[in-house]
Order: sequence, then structure tokens, then C-alpha cells
Amino acid sequence: MSSTKYQDFRTRVIHECQSPADWEGATLPPIYQSAANLHPTAENLSDTFGGKTGDHIYMRLTNPTNKVLEQKLAALEGGARALVTSSGMAAITNACMALLRAGDEFVSGNSLFMSTYVLFNNIFKKYAITARMVESTDLTAIEEAINEKTRFIYLETIGNPKMDVPDLAKAADIAHRHGLPLLVDSTLATPYLCRPIELGADIVIHSTTKYFSGHGDATGGVLIDSGTFNWQSHRFPDFKPFIDRKGPLAYLDKVWREHHINFGTTQAPLHSYLTMLGLDTMALRMERHLANAQQVAEFLSNRPEVKWVRYPGLTNSPSHQTAAAQFNGLGFGGVLSFGLADQATCFKFINTLKLAYNLANLGDCKTLVIHPYSSQYLSFDEPTRQKLSITPDLIRLSVGIEAVTDICDDLGQALDTI
Ligand SMILES: *Cc1c(COP(=O)(O)O)cnc(C)c1O
Repeated sequence: MSSTKYQDFRTRVIHECQSPADWEGATLPPIYQSAANLHPTAENLSDTFGGKTGDHIYMRLTNPTNKVLEQKLAALEGGARALVTSSGMAAITNACMALLRAGDEFVSGNSLFMSTYVLFNNIFKKYAITARMVESTDLTAIEEAINEKTRFIYLETIGNPKMDVPDLAKAADIAHRHGLPLLVDSTLATPYLCRPIELGADIVIHSTTKYFSGHGDATGGVLIDSGTFNWQSHRFPDFKPFIDRKGPLAYLDKVWREHHINFGTTQAPLHSYLTMLGLDTMALRMERHLANAQQVAEFLSNRPEVKWVRYPGLTNSPSHQTAAAQFNGLGFGGVLSFGLADQATCFKFINTLKLAYNLANLGDCKTLVIHPYSSQYLSFDEPTRQKLSITPDLIRLSVGIEAVTDICDDLGQALDTI
């Protein structure tokens, strides 16, 4: 597998780690749909178990199709190595569990994907792990929450549905000053818009279910290791055997060996294939997502029925300047949220839409709409919803790649009825 010499992301996203000569001339890698791999001799299988060959053993451990996607995604994020998983949540769970022991703590921004919030605040509690939750954009609060038990800092590049953008370079500086890694879920940005490792992040996570696949057809996650964090820090004595084995890639080895294999968070090779098919058009799709979202945000801002719009591309967004400095100058993301009068008005609006799909996903090429308060956050108590800015008047829109005139016409005709 060779990396391309190209600099431009739009070319790299297609040609990075392409190797048709290894695939009998095919332009996408084959789907290796095989639970286990044959070994010529008992000695070879033993050597492979001993880590002396790079051969594959069993699909739960590794798969050749997944490996190609891992190489492509590591290259696109500017990381050293990647691990693909069955879903974004599998990547997040593995990424955190590899760092956490009973009694440990970590600091997290509270503008989080819903299931991540539940994992951090409810599930980890059962294992005596404390997530110190702070405002994602409050660097002072992040630093003040660090103590001797802290093992990492966790942020999302663009929080959702709050649409806040933390300063990743400054957060990475804080983390490193305290000997901690910065983990970033960059699903909403994608490496087209922002590459957190270039800003100082150590581990980048994505739900590939969203913009990478792009067609709502495959679930998947990925964890990308920069390979540059110093795990010899006094905070990580449990990393010694992994450092001895893999040096700077100790973390990804720990994730894989301890958690991915034993939790069984394997990516199906068909899903890796579909994700690679999606990657071929990702830059093109992102260009349209970003342009459309900006126009839709401006359209909604000018409608009297819309009380407020949250989108980092609007100059009145508290995150506008950070986003403008941190993103590649290509736009501000494809997701936005806005407020109508109340929940009943939101329901009437959604039920009147003709083009937008009412479903729980984002990053699809189709425009998607949801009322988070009554769906993803239905079981959350009121104070938590308030804290997370999940209000009954809020609608989240994942702007698709249709003609923007058709998207705005659809939103406009539904607003006309309320
Ligand atoms: C969807 C999403 C996830 C979870 O990914 P799945 O593939 O659904 O498990 C995590 N983080 C963010 C920001 C997401 O949008």
C-alpha cells in the first residue's frame, strides 16, 4: 500500500492507499467475507499468534478489507494508525475504556452526542469512573477540572445540537501541559473541514456512519492514533507492556488487544467496503453540504417564524470566530439547529415537510430533520435537557446535497403553515 503524493484533500480522499495491483486490478478492495484465515503450517499459525507475522487469524481480530479502510482513514486524518469498529459508539467506548480503570476520572465537554453523554454520565458510573463535565468551549473550566486521577480530555469538534466549537489547539495545549491526551470526536467536521491532529489532538474518533459513508447505508466507527503522545507519562504506568510491544503506537495496541478483540466490536467488511465507496465522493458531497447549510442557515435567519438559528457559519454564533480559524476555510459544517414557537409548532412543521426525512441520523446526502427533545432525549430529565440546551422548541436539521432552492422551498412551505 502506498500513499499518494497528492496534497489536495479532494484528490487524496479518492487515491490514498489505493492498490489495484493487489486487488487483481479492481478499483475497490475485495470484501473478504471470511470468518477465519487458513495458515499453511502449525508453525505459521503459532508465529501469527505470537505477533511475528502480519497475517490474519480471525475476523473479530482483523480483516483485510477493514485494513485498507484503516490505512486510508489514518492517512486522511494525518494519523499514524487507525482501527475501524462496528459503530461510532464502539470506537468511543473502546477509545475511553483503554484509558480508564476503576476510580479514574476524565474531563469532557458536555456538548456531546446523546449516547456518548449517556455512556459518560450513566454507564461509566457503574465502574466507579467519573466524567467531569464542563462547558465544551470553557478552557478555564477544562483546566480546573483536571486532577491527579484524570486520564484524558474529551471534546467534539462541533457539538450537536448546540453547534458550539471548542478551541482544539488551546485544549490540546492544556492537556499536554498536564501530561494528558486530547481525544476528539470529529464526526460532524470530517477531515475535509478540520484535522484535529494538526491542531494538537492525540486521538481522533469518527462515526463513519455519517459523512464518510454518506448514504445512510452502513454503520461504522474509527479511532485514529496520532502516534505522537508520550505514554511514558507518570499518569500511565499500565501502558508499559504496550509501550514495550509497540512504542509510540502503544495506545492503539491497547485498544485493540484489550478491548476491541475481547468486546467484539468488529467492523463488518461489507460496511468497510461501503464506507470506502462513500469516501470516493466525500469531498464533493461535503462541498455541497457546507454550501447548502450556510444558505439554509441564512434563509432560516430571515424567516419571522424562526426564533433563533444555531450554526457556526453565522456571524452571530458565539463559535463563529473559533470555527473560522480552526476549519479549513471551506465552511462550517452541514448540521444546524433552530427554534420555533414550541413543541406543537415543531411537530406541525416536521409533519408538513415534503422533501426532508424525519429520522434519527445525520450526514446523509438527503436532508434530515428531527425534534431531539421528544426523540433522542425523551428519557432525559428536565434539568439535564436544560443543561444540554435540548429545549422543546428546537429542531435539528442535517442539510443534504439536494438543490438548495428545493431545500429552502420545502422549509419555507412548512413555515408558511405554522
Ligand atoms: C452518530 C454519532 C456517534 C455515534 O455513531 P454510531 O455510528 O451511531 O454509533 C458519535 N458521535 C457523533 C458526533 C455522532 O454524530
